[in-house]
This record gives sequence, C-alpha cells and structure tokens, in this order.
Amino acid sequence: MGTDAISPPGRPSGAGPDAPDGPPFSDEQAMGLALDQATAAAAHGDVPVGAVALHHGRLVAARHNERQLRGDPTAHAELLALADAAAALGTWRLTGITLVVTLEPCPMCAGGLVAARVGRLVFGATDPKAGACGTLYNLCADPRLNHEVPVTPGVRAAEASGQLKAFFAARRPSPTP
Ligand code: ZN
Repeated sequence: MGTDAISPPGRPSGAGPDAPDGPPFSDEQAMGLALDQATAAAAHGDVPVGAVALHHGRLVAARHNERQLRGDPTAHAELLALADAAAALGTWRLTGITLVVTLEPCPMCAGGLVAARVGRLVFGATDPKAGACGTLYNLCADPRLNHEVPVTPGVRAAEASGQLKAFFAARRPSPTP
C-alpha cells in the first residue's frame, strides 16, 4: 500500500475551462445576490432589478438597473451583467453562463441573452407588462431563432415582486382628498 491511496484527489492539470473554479452557488443563493443588487438600484431611484452571472457556478458579474442613473434606456441589469461577464471571460459567446435576474427579462434583454448564447436563465418574478421569457413572449424558446436558453422561472419570486411593489408604492403620490 503506497501513500498514493490517501492522497487527496486534487484537480487534474488538464481540467480545462469547464472545471468548477470555486464553490458553486445554488439558484437560491445566486438569487440572493441578485436581490441585493436590486436593492442597490432602488437606492439611486432606479426600478429595483438585479442580475448576476455565474460561469459554471462561479460569480463573474453582479449588476443592477442603471437606466435612471445613466439616463440610458438600455442600461438594464441583464445587459450590464452580460457585458461584464463577456469582459471577464474575454468572449462574447457566453454558453457557460447562467444569468440570474430578479425580474423576467424584457424583449431587449431576452434578445441579448439569445445573442450572447447564454447557457441558462433563472429569474424571480414574472413581468406581465414586459416579460419576454414566457409571459408575453418567449424569446428564449423560439425554434426560429438561432439559440434557445433553458429557463428556470419563479426562484424567490415573492421576494423579488415584494421589492418591486414596495418601490412603486413608495413612489406613488398620496391620494388627493
Ligand atoms: Zn430588460
């Protein structure tokens, strides 16, 4: 019996880019980080939507809605997170990325997910006014497009919709007598 039998398995040197690079986040844990990002958006008057990008379970981007902050109609959390993830990985092709966002993506962001060839989408609350990942449209599962994104909806949805409701309730003017 050699000592090899009790050596820790370690990580094979040829593990490649698909090998996990840290403790993976569960969908619920990742959504917790996205919810924290959404809180940060509300702090500067933006609708509280947060998104994080995981590369094989490892966090590579965490952003929130900055539309109001930047005066940019495209500064949604998802697109900002995709741009950060692409910069971190050095490629626009994000097949190894799971994007986790508190609110169902709009048509623009769902289009971005398809364009980036994102591997998987996880979202919290559904969006009856703009949802393009199952509610009004499903751009993530349209065989006419050149890429489909598996979707896990409804993760910590009550917390995500609670944040949004609280934000809009606080902005609503008090009723006139
Ligand atoms: Zn969007």
